[in-house]
Amino acid sequence: MEFQFLEKLLLTLLLLTSGGLFLWNLRAKIGQITKGPTDRVRTDHPGKRLARTMREVLLQSRVIGQRPIVGALHAVVFLGFLLFAIETVEHFLEGFGTSLLNPLLGSALPGFRAAMSVVAALVAIAIIGLAFRRFVLVRTSPDPRSVTSGIVALFIFLLMLSYLNGISASPLAPHANWWLHAIIILVFPHLILRSKHFHILMAPVTLFFRTDRLGDYLPLDLAALAEADVEDVCLGLEKVSSLPWKMRMDFLTCVECRRCTDSCPAAQAGTGLDPRGFILAGREALRSGSPDDEVTETVIPDDPLGFCVTCGACENGCPVGVEHLQLIVGAKRAQALATGKGVVASDYFRAIETYGNPFGVPRADRRKLISDLGMPRFSGGAGEWLLWLGCVWGYNPELRPAVKAFQEVLDAAGTPWGVLEDEPCCGHHSRRQGEESQFQDLARRSLEVLQQKNVRRIVTPCPHCLHTLRREHSNLGNYSPQIVHYSELMQSLVAEGKLQFKTNGTRREAAYHDPCYLARYEAVTDAPRAVLAAAGTTVRELPHRGARTLCCGGGAAGFVRELESHQRLDRVRRAEIVGSGAELLVTACPECRMMLGAAVDQTKDLAEIVAESMQAGRAATPAAEPQLAAMGK
Ligand code: SF4
Ligand code: SF4
Repeated sequence: MEFQFLEKLLLTLLLLTSGGLFLWNLRAKIGQITKGPTDRVRTDHPGKRLARTMREVLLQSRVIGQRPIVGALHAVVFLGFLLFAIETVEHFLEGFGTSLLNPLLGSALPGFRAAMSVVAALVAIAIIGLAFRRFVLVRTSPDPRSVTSGIVALFIFLLMLSYLNGISASPLAPHANWWLHAIIILVFPHLILRSKHFHILMAPVTLFFRTDRLGDYLPLDLAALAEADVEDVCLGLEKVSSLPWKMRMDFLTCVECRRCTDSCPAAQAGTGLDPRGFILAGREALRSGSPDDEVTETVIPDDPLGFCVTCGACENGCPVGVEHLQLIVGAKRAQALATGKGVVASDYFRAIETYGNPFGVPRADRRKLISDLGMPRFSGGAGEWLLWLGCVWGYNPELRPAVKAFQEVLDAAGTPWGVLEDEPCCGHHSRRQGEESQFQDLARRSLEVLQQKNVRRIVTPCPHCLHTLRREHSNLGNYSPQIVHYSELMQSLVAEGKLQFKTNGTRREAAYHDPCYLARYEAVTDAPRAVLAAAGTTVRELPHRGARTLCCGGGAAGFVRELESHQRLDRVRRAEIVGSGAELLVTACPECRMMLGAAVDQTKDLAEIVAESMQAGRAATPAAEPQLAAMGK
């Protein structure tokens, strides 16, 4: 196509103006981000970060994960967007009478264009599908009134249409068609800057800088803070000015898809906690608020914040790398300082302080449990496992059948094991309630006891203790024993032939509830299922399972908080379990067992299922590989 000199001049002016304006406005956006302080190193292991980013961006794994159909349509549009980059350059080069593709592809150009026409048709169909879902299927749409989404969809559709028209054998109004295509491309970046479509630019950056591990909280340097001026002390995210740059980047990158809120058990229970809402409130605070505004007033209001159980479902499903948990725990740290504000587990803190356990019962009760059950004391012998009971098994008498069952399993396998006479609380829930000082005290006490006894191998039934001992205590001291969940140890014992089951060929069926801190945080989903299979139990899978499990409501000290019945998070999970039709529910976490105890006719601990199957007189040898050595735990 031939272009006049004036057209070329106009095109040059438009390109310069559009590019200049874009850079100017982008500078302002970046300024909002860089005003925030640095919270941690985010450029370590650049190769690993890059690989993770490429994987998530190119495969669109999180986009497709939760919403397969919508995610697949989005993936088609996104990949088409990438593929069209070269055609976009070619389009403007054509306006200046030159070409990149002609010399580059030569005789292969018609074939390339034929392939691109298929891509364009697919993108056009996908964008119609996405628009249909957003504006027609309004009940499933995250934001049915989004005007910019409508304009962006229309632009993408027109771009594809004008491309197809432009490369056809006899295009309609070729000149006007060319200019329509060019103008849309020139306007598009400005729409991106002023809308949630900013994620097109920012998502790869946010994903690159994202913390590698879910809920990887930095310990506060309490010693340094004690010496600092009261004025300078920042114990949490108190003011908007204290929001780190990555958190600000998260606010601006959010694509408003509502995956986080849809998977939040507290939102589903009607508590008023809304993960998408607080991320967008953060965006608004950066745009129009003051740096002195309080985070718990302008971003996450006090009461809803108190309902968060730190289950991680919001962050785990976010397709653009937003880190909700860092914001939540940062705000909880600020909240924990201001007693009387919001739904803070102050009774929990007091019980831990006075009795060393969340139930506020004397330590003597735990000693009595140990002597009643005749549990061996940990002696530090070769190959000996320390059974870390955790507070629920240690202090809640209702869970005694599970403790006894696991004791029987260990004894039957001939595994050397013992317990501590005085096992401190690991501090898991204190940290998640923002009480960092209490957490660090408890963690140090735990470390001291473990080091004194020279413990090298720990097994625990509690995923919360597992996560804290494995991931967080090592930050405070140079000590790293092998720590496994009891399901992992049982899987290994089964594989080594140390547990004999007597099934008589009969199998039973049970629903299995994945605990958040086991399945989502520690990625342990196969071991409990392998143990159940070996013990003659067929798992009836629940709709939310594995890394997408739904919290029982016990997280962040939820298991000791008295809530109004309509606010109880366990209600949501119970309804799902009841809906599955299962008559038997199996849990692999003492807290889940407590929260879901009355969900169905029978709720049992994994250890109880194993112990029962051993006693039933059956001899089934399952095929499972030894796992512990391979896991390096
Ligand atoms: S925070 Fe993430 S999951 Fe939530 S609405 Fe924004 S992009 Fe979606
Ligand atoms: S961590 Fe769980 S409860 Fe808290 S906001 Fe996220 S999804 Fe909701």
